[in-house]
Amino acid sequence: MKHYVHLKSLNTFSIDVFAKHVVTAHNECALLRFWKKAYNKRTPVLILGGGSNILFLENYIGTILLNRIKGIFITENKMAWRLHVGAGEKWHELVTYTINKNIPGLENLAYIPGYVGAAPIQNIGAYGVELSQICEYVDVIDLYNEKKIRFFRAECNFQYRDSIFKNCLKKYAIVSVGLKLNKKWKPVLSYHELTHLNKDSITPRQVFNFINIIRQKKLPDPILVGNAGSFFKNPIVDTNIARYLFQIYPNMPYYSQKNGKIKLSAGWLIERCQLKGYMFGEAAIHPKQSLVLINRRKIATGTEIAALALFIYNQVADKFNIYLQPEVRLIGNYGEINPKKLFT
Ligand SMILES: Cc1cc2nc3c(=O)[nH]c(=O)nc-3n(C[C@H](O)[C@H](O)[C@H](O)COP(=O)(O)OP(=O)(O)OC[C@H]3O[C@@H](n4cnc5c(N)ncnc54)[C@H](O)[C@@H]3O)c2cc1C
Repeated sequence: MKHYVHLKSLNTFSIDVFAKHVVTAHNECALLRFWKKAYNKRTPVLILGGGSNILFLENYIGTILLNRIKGIFITENKMAWRLHVGAGEKWHELVTYTINKNIPGLENLAYIPGYVGAAPIQNIGAYGVELSQICEYVDVIDLYNEKKIRFFRAECNFQYRDSIFKNCLKKYAIVSVGLKLNKKWKPVLSYHELTHLNKDSITPRQVFNFINIIRQKKLPDPILVGNAGSFFKNPIVDTNIARYLFQIYPNMPYYSQKNGKIKLSAGWLIERCQLKGYMFGEAAIHPKQSLVLINRRKIATGTEIAALALFIYNQVADKFNIYLQPEVRLIGNYGEINPKKLFT
């Protein structure tokens, strides 16, 4: 156990705060033991993967528990491969491993930072594919009852950047994830930057490589510039709101949803507020991708980034009457902070 540890290297925003303790669990027993120790001392615990979906607003007075439970177990039948993967495997390394083994299905989700355990929480998604399409189950430990529970896909309540796990992170630790990848592979090329590719001749590895090129062009590398990917979710609105906006902005991009609602592009809304590249002290909006907030020289504080986010939230609300919701989780002294406290 390390005491008073700087967390700068444990969050991709590179916010320089510290936690009272940092511990690493390599198996389920250790994870439960660390959690119970902290619980008995009445100190908060934050389970962390790669810190690529969080913003530390201040020092954390509790224990950061790094989930590093590893293992990739593959079985197969005529129809599909089934993968049982430890929460402490790195997501992109898993994708690379499957591609190298000629197991397709994860290629569109390549290069997403973070660990497998966090993937179901916000139902990671990119380039037309979401985890929910391939996830068969999620194994968790109910920390208070010391019981292992398996949530099958239908019970996970997966939605756009959402799942049942988002609101019960204090109760459950995700320890493994089950994926099912069909042997009958069809490339998913519906995303506008992929539509020009030939669906009849393309291979999974080519999609994987193409995703790499697109992501490198559009997204800042957290090793060089602090960021947590998209800061806000794309807002999903009723058709009457979308119709009203189309009258004013006929070129507004939109994506029809299965439930009849319309998903708008948060990046486009931010750009229309003339905010691309906007700087607020050391915090800034990425010049190429308005949805990504950056810690330019890795010296911004979490509150500076949050102040910039609040500014964007207010600008978009004033111009479009649309209230953006953060995708990134806000972490304070004692743990997660309800975004409604900040964005109102
Ligand atoms: C450059 C960049 C690009 C990105 N692109 C995408 C993208 O295309 N699509 C996308 O969906 N996301 C994207 N993200 C966001 C992020 O990578 C994902 O949300 C990822 O799944 C987070 O994983 P993590 O291990 O870093 O989670 P963390 O940030 O460590 O944790 C996120 C939350 O989950 C909790 N948690 C983590 N692990 C566990 C566990 N085992 N059990 C219980 N709770 C846990 C934490 O307490 C925290 O509240 C991007 C981020 C960056 C920096």
